[in-house]
Amino acid sequence: MPRFQGLVTSKLPAVGTTIFSVMSKLAMENNAINLSQGFPDFNCSEKLVELVNQNMKKGNNQYAPMPGVPALREQIAEMIQDLYGTQYNPDTEITVTAGATQAIYTAIAAVVREGDEVIVFEPAYDCYTPAIIVAGGKPVYVQLSQPDFSIDWLAVKKVMSHRTKLIIINTPHNPSGTILSDKDMQELDKLTKDTDIMILSDEVYEHMVFDNGIHQSVARFPNLADRSFLISSFGKTVHTTGWKMAYVAAPENLMTEFRKVHQYLVFSCNTPIQYALAEYMKDKNNYLELKSFYQQKRDQFIKLISSSKFSFEQSTGTYFQLLNYSAISDEKDTDFAIRLTKEFKIASIPLSVFYHENVDNRLLRFCFAKKEETLEKAAEILCKIS
Ligand code: PMP
Ligand code: GLN
Repeated sequence: MPRFQGLVTSKLPAVGTTIFSVMSKLAMENNAINLSQGFPDFNCSEKLVELVNQNMKKGNNQYAPMPGVPALREQIAEMIQDLYGTQYNPDTEITVTAGATQAIYTAIAAVVREGDEVIVFEPAYDCYTPAIIVAGGKPVYVQLSQPDFSIDWLAVKKVMSHRTKLIIINTPHNPSGTILSDKDMQELDKLTKDTDIMILSDEVYEHMVFDNGIHQSVARFPNLADRSFLISSFGKTVHTTGWKMAYVAAPENLMTEFRKVHQYLVFSCNTPIQYALAEYMKDKNNYLELKSFYQQKRDQFIKLISSSKFSFEQSTGTYFQLLNYSAISDEKDTDFAIRLTKEFKIASIPLSVFYHENVDNRLLRFCFAKKEETLEKAAEILCKIS
């Protein structure tokens, strides 16, 4: 008998526990190598930890200003301008958030109303749809083309209507490990020009682009930047997913609405960490070297698994590598991922969970943000699976 006897009508009837929690728990229970949920198994820099400690000892332990510590907002504005050329005013156009998840939720809550449509590309990171639905909006899905996960812009044009309020893009893309091109951004520009459509650009993996590829931030395209919420996450950039620190940059009129929701959702974020990041990010190497750091890991991982029965296209961005297992099994990807965790002691994420209709292309996602020895052990297992 439930303790609450009233009627509870779920606002999110289709939502269960996220796949990241499910697979990480299964990995732990089975003592499996966990390449499922995306997080590093190595520590962040000691210098950064020291800076946080110093700020705590200094007494920077009370509420930060609602939009974030000014020094950090200034540093973020400088990084964006340096890398992509667009100027954001740190006072009015940048807000520090408790992770990118909060930033995404807040942006959607701030602009999406009952009946508004939001274009979402699938496979899609799993926090977009629930936020749209809670806001009363309707996700309109466009599937990325197979096997390269490219965007069919004609298909996008077909689903656009006067009800389209927002388009969500994500580059580098989780879960596919692909990136958008300059041409993609131009297509997006063409399609949205002369409309009221806004863009949410999830760029949390902005510093992880490989093989001399270029990260196509909306901030490289003035017309796109003018209608976009640009979101990035320190969790990825400085190897601190557990700190839940991220930021949003957007034109003032969008940011004003964003902050109205932000101030009542979290008000402000962790103070000592903001001071520490403001100092730490002054050294450009702390984010610029991420590219080669993760490219090395990707290269190591794919070299080690090259003799396995999995097939793959090299990831061009993020810290994820997709592997196709159709030469090994015709099991459903969810079943196969569970069996690999229990029998072979290696956990991954099945791709079908990122589609509302559970499209299954026999693909699993593996996170290579791991120590050399973890990747070696994982590859040894993967090579034995046949
Ligand atoms: N967007 C994407 C594409 C992600 O992969 C993640 C999680 N890693 C997030 C947003 C959320 O980031 P955060 O941990 O900063 O909330
Ligand atoms: N973004 C991480 C991933 O894709 C997981 C984040 C989470 O657990 N919510 O694996």
